[in-house]
Order: sequence, then structure tokens, then C-alpha cells
Amino acid sequence: MLKRIYQPAAYQTDTMPKSFWVASASPLPECLEMPAEGTIRADVAIIGGGYCGLSAALELARNGADVAVFDAGRSGWGASGRNGGFCCMGGSGKDYGYLAKRFGEDAVRHFARIQRDAIHLVEKRLTDWNIDADRHSDGEVILAHKPNRIAELKHEAAELAHFTKIKTELLSPEALDERGLHAKDTHGGLHVKMGFGLNPMKYLVGLHQQCVAAGVRIFEQAKIDRLVEDGEGYRLHAGNTQISAGKIIIATNGYSAENLPDWVGGRLMPVFSGILVTRPLSEDELAEQGWTSDLMAFDSRILLHYFRKLPDNRFLFGGRGGITATEAAFAAGKRDLLDNFNRMFPAWRDVEFSHHWNGLACLSQSWRPYIGRVPGHHDAWTALAWHGNGVALASQGGKMLAERMLGTIDDDDIGSVLGTPMGKFPMPSLRRLARSVAYRYYGLRDNYA
Ligand SMILES: Cc1cc2nc3c(=O)[nH]c(=O)nc-3n(C[C@H](O)[C@H](O)[C@H](O)COP(=O)(O)OP(=O)(O)OC[C@H]3O[C@@H](n4cnc5c(N)ncnc54)[C@H](O)[C@@H]3O)c2cc1C
Repeated sequence: MLKRIYQPAAYQTDTMPKSFWVASASPLPECLEMPAEGTIRADVAIIGGGYCGLSAALELARNGADVAVFDAGRSGWGASGRNGGFCCMGGSGKDYGYLAKRFGEDAVRHFARIQRDAIHLVEKRLTDWNIDADRHSDGEVILAHKPNRIAELKHEAAELAHFTKIKTELLSPEALDERGLHAKDTHGGLHVKMGFGLNPMKYLVGLHQQCVAAGVRIFEQAKIDRLVEDGEGYRLHAGNTQISAGKIIIATNGYSAENLPDWVGGRLMPVFSGILVTRPLSEDELAEQGWTSDLMAFDSRILLHYFRKLPDNRFLFGGRGGITATEAAFAAGKRDLLDNFNRMFPAWRDVEFSHHWNGLACLSQSWRPYIGRVPGHHDAWTALAWHGNGVALASQGGKMLAERMLGTIDDDDIGSVLGTPMGKFPMPSLRRLARSVAYRYYGLRDNYA
């Protein structure tokens, strides 16, 4: 029996989420039906068909491994088919300075290079695979939601200059207006000239197709409910069907169970994020608000909002979801997003929304992802906890995990920031409560400090 942190509604995998991405990408082809009984054999069995699991599968299959991927829903059912489509830097809940105190400056520069490589990987895949994923935006803009947050933007610019070669530009409120980036109560911005926006499902469908072409078997409605290490390798159980594999990969991120494997228990904090998408806005409506830019943006709140004008002039607005998976929490999450959207973009107060959905991103106890062997296991591997920045990093992380398993890279290539396993939360059973208290505190700090 899988132990989950949220109510069962968060893990209903029988249909795809009602996201704008699922509605606008071509349907996923070629998933295999899970047999009702019997044994499936593979060199490597991968649990989770998101960017991470599929990227690992592709790398392994292209290097001759017999790979099978199992998803409780379908490829992209999880966060990879539901996210905001910001393909950008990030992956830790802490800034580079904080990480440098623990791991040293060189290790942090290495981590930053991997983040940048991750963006280039996605970019190259879209080009090489000829995927039209509605790309736009030359980098991203952080908007100061209070005058005193300008100092934070300057600090961010200084950190990026110190640890990376990424160019940044501070923007005054007037410069923001000139560039068509007018949101109410914005006191300046920082343009980080790295990254782009995409339709995450169009990218995912292309990645899935490449896996199939490379010989990966991808099973849908294939929930793995138990894992046994038997000396020779691993046996996974999905109802009456068994999977026998020499190696396994856990690529379940925010949808991980606490006991698959037991090591995961108490180390992760899956958090809901929700997204609203409007109908296409007319040029007049865009001009009335003063937001005509195709740059993607987020604000300086700790409980931040992220937003971007999509290429067809819809507007996407995302932010924190609730901390329960009930219908009431889903509705409350929508109201909260709407309140903030109306406050920041008052000219669009009466605009209709065509889509609202949410999903689980994943934080860890140590505010870092982890890529490597599952501690205590011989040949179980994992890559997870992308801290809401997995479009690029989960793609790169899955690929690097496969390279590490193949022996084409070693632990030094992964580096200490990504290669050090996360610890356990002090009182794991109180994680959700602690998160709820933290949300209240951060909400007050965002509004009043
Ligand atoms: C609303 C939202 C907005 C986001 N916005 C952004 C953004 O703009 N930019 C960005 O970089 N990141 C964003 N993220 C985060 C990003 O989407 C994730 O970090 C990334 O998709 C994680 O990929 P993954 O492959 O590791 O996991 P997922 O895509 O979550 O895949 C995990 C899969 O594991 C499967 N699974 C779990 N348990 C089992 C089991 N027992 N058996 C079989 N299958 C199982 C699930 O069905 C799921 O499909 C966002 C996330 C959310 C939820």
C-alpha cells in the first residue's frame, strides 16, 4: 500500500489534467497497455513518465539498454504536463550565497552551469526534434512588488554576476512601462537574460515520441505499488503484474509515495501550484493594461506569482495552490489566484478564464534536488525535488542520472550540490501543518515587510 502525503484526489490518474496544455498539444501516441498479470522484464525499469523519467529512458535506450517506463497515469500526467512552461534557471529553494556556505563557491558555479546546460538541452531538443512548442521570451523578468524589494533584485544581479556569466539588466518602473510590462504596484524589475517559455506538453509529447523511437516501452495506467530488492535486481509490483529489472529509477518527484522506496519517507515536501489561463486577449485589451511584452515574469514575493503572455495572446497566471487536495481547497486556490490577478492586472478584471488546474511541485528538506543512487540500495537510482524548476533541470537531471548509471559521467560531474542526498524533516508527520504555518508567515511578510 502506497503512503501518500495528500488525499487520494491528488493522485487520480485515470484522466489527464484539464490543463490548457493538454487541450492544445497533440494527443500522446503509443502508450502500452499494462497487462493484468504476468511478468515484464527489462534491464532498467523507470517509475514516472515525466521529463525526468523519459529523459533518463532516452539516454539509456540510446546506449543499448532495454528500458521500460511505468506511469500511474500517462506520460506527462504529473507536473511535466501541468507546469507554467518557464524553461529557466533554478532548482534550489535557497540562493547561491547560502549554498556556497555549505558547498563552496566552485560547487555552486558547477551547479549553476548544470542549470544553464539544462536550458540549452531543452532548446537543442526542440530544434533537433523539430518540435514547435510555442517558444517565446528572451529570458525572464523579476518584478519588485514593494520598493524595498529593489535591494533584493540588486542582490540577485550581483549573485548571478559572481556565480554565472548570465547577463542581467535592472529596469526602472518607467523602463518596465516602455517595454510593455505594466503590472499594478510594481517598483522596478530585473531582466535575467537566460531561459524561455514553452508549451510544456508539446515538449513532453516530443520527448515521449523520441523515447518510443529509441525502443523504450512506455506503459500507462501502470501504478507501481511495491518494490522488492531480491539480490539479483528488483521486482516491482503493479497489481497482479510483476516487473523484473536489474536496475530501477524512481522519477516520481511531487507524486512520490513515502514508501517507494522507504528512503523517500519524510524527505520531500510536495506543494500545490495552481494556474489560470485567460481567453485570447485583443490588442486593445493588452494595451489597456500596458502588458504587451512576450517576456515571462514573476514577482518578488516569497509566495510568488508567475505570469506570461502566451503567443496566442492568452495570459497565464500561476501561484501557490492550497495544502490539501479537496474540492474546497481547489476552489479556494482559484479564488486566491483570481484576487491576486485582479489586483495586479485590474484592466482585465472582467476577462474570462478558459482553464484552471493545479499540480504538485516538490521541495526537499535540504532545499536542493538530488541526483544519484538511492542510499541503502545497490541499483535503485533517483533524481527529484526540482523546487518548482523542473522543465529544464528535470530534463537534464534525468539525462545525467542515466549517464551516471552508464558510467559515462561520475559523481564529480554531478557535483556536491546535486549529489548529496537530502536529509529528513525533523517531524515528518507535521510537514503539512508546518507548511501551512509557513504560508501564513510568508504571506504576512510578502504583504507587510
Ligand atoms: C502548477 C505547476 C507549475 C510549475 N511551473 C514550472 C515552470 O514554469 N517551470 C519549471 O521549470 N517548473 C515548473 N514546475 C515544476 C515542474 O513541472 C516539475 O519540476 C517537473 O515537471 C518534474 O518532472 P518529473 O519528471 O521529475 O516529475 P513529474 O512530471 O511530476 O512526473 C512524475 C510521474 O510519476 C508518476 N508516478 C508517481 N508515483 C507512481 C507510481 N507509484 N507508479 C507509477 N507512476 C508513478 C506520476 O503519475 C507522474 O506522472 C511546475 C509545477 C507545477 C505543479
